[in-house]
Amino acid sequence: WAKADGKARWTLFDPERNAHRMTRQALASTLRPAIDRGEFTLEYQPLVRMEDSRLRGVEALVRWNHPQFGMLTPNRFIGLAEEDGSIVPLGRWVLATACRQARRWQVDHPGEPPIFVSVNVAVRQVWDSDLVADVAAILAETGLAPHLLQLELTESAVMGSAGRPLQALQALSDMGVHIAIDDFGTGYSNLAYLSRLPVSVLKLDGSFVRGFQYEGEGAPPNPADEVVVEAMIQLAHRLGLTVTAECVETSAQAARLRRIGCDTGQGWLYSRPVPPDRISGLLGVRV
Ligand code: C2E
Ligand code: MG
Ligand code: MG
Ligand code: MG
Repeated sequence: WAKADGKARWTLFDPERNAHRMTRQALASTLRPAIDRGEFTLEYQPLVRMEDSRLRGVEALVRWNHPQFGMLTPNRFIGLAEEDGSIVPLGRWVLATACRQARRWQVDHPGEPPIFVSVNVAVRQVWDSDLVADVAAILAETGLAPHLLQLELTESAVMGSAGRPLQALQALSDMGVHIAIDDFGTGYSNLAYLSRLPVSVLKLDGSFVRGFQYEGEGAPPNPADEVVVEAMIQLAHRLGLTVTAECVETSAQAARLRRIGCDTGQGWLYSRPVPPDRISGLLGVRV
C-alpha cells in the first residue's frame, strides 16, 4: 500500500478485495475465542483398504461453523491459525476430539475391528508446543491405543527436521503412533531421506491420481503418470512404507491403483468427509 501507483490505489478501493481482507481480519481475530465457544467441528473421511474395500480408518478434517460466515472449510482459516499461533490450541482440540471419537466407535462397535483415526498436524504444533506430551496425555485420557492414531505431516514439515522435530517424531513413533507424510510428491520427494525418518505411511497427493482421469480400458492420456506412481509405490514398499492415495474419485482410478499395489484409498468414490454418526453406519460394511 506504500506504493501509490494506480494499481495499488484501485486495489485499495476494490470493494470485493476489501471485503475479503475484512473477512480475513474478522476470522483471525475470532479464532481463539471460537475454540472456547465450540464453533469448530470435525468431519471424518473414510480410508479404505483397496484390496477388499473395507473401512480401515478415517481422516479427521476440521470445519468452522462460523456464526456470521457459515460453515468454513480449513483453507479459509488454517493458514491464519498457523500465522497467529492459534493452530496450537486448535490442533490440540482436534487431536483430543478425534481420539475421543475413535475410542467411542471402538466401544460402540465391539464386534468390529477397530478403525484408526488420522489427524493433520501443522509444523507449528511440532515446533511451538509439546506435541509428544499432548499426544501422550490425550491417549491416556481417551483410552485410545497409540497404534489407532496416525498423524499427518507435510513433506516440508519433516524434511530437514533435524533436532527437536525429529526427536518428537521419534518419540511419537516409539509410543506406537503412526506418522504419515501428507500430500506426498508436491515437495522434495526425497523418498530415501524420508525412509530414514520414523514414517510409516505415504499419502500420495491427489494430483497423481488426477493423472488417471480416464474411464474404461483405453490408452491413458498420459501413461507416464501411471508408471511414475507405480514406481513410487514399489519403492515405498521396499522402504517399508504403506501408500494411501488421496482424491480417488472414480472406480477406474481405484482399479488402476489396486493393480499397481496401492494399499489404501481415500476420496469421493468411497465417501466425502461426513459427521461421526455416518461413520458408525459404515462400520462393518463394505464402503
Ligand atoms: P488434506 O489433509 O490433504 O485433506 C484432504 C482434502 O482433500 C480434504 O479437504 C478433503 O475434503 C479433500 N478430498 C477428499 N477426497 C477428495 C476427492 O476425491 N476429490 C477432491 N477434489 N478432494 C477430496 P479439506 O477438508 O477442505 O481440507 C483441506 C486441508 O486442510 C487438508 O488437506 C489439510 O491440509 C488441512 N486440514 C484439515 N483439517 C486440519 C486440521 O485439523 N489441522 C490442520 N493443521 N490442517 C487441517
Ligand atoms: Mg491430511
Ligand atoms: Mg492430504
Ligand atoms: Mg491434499
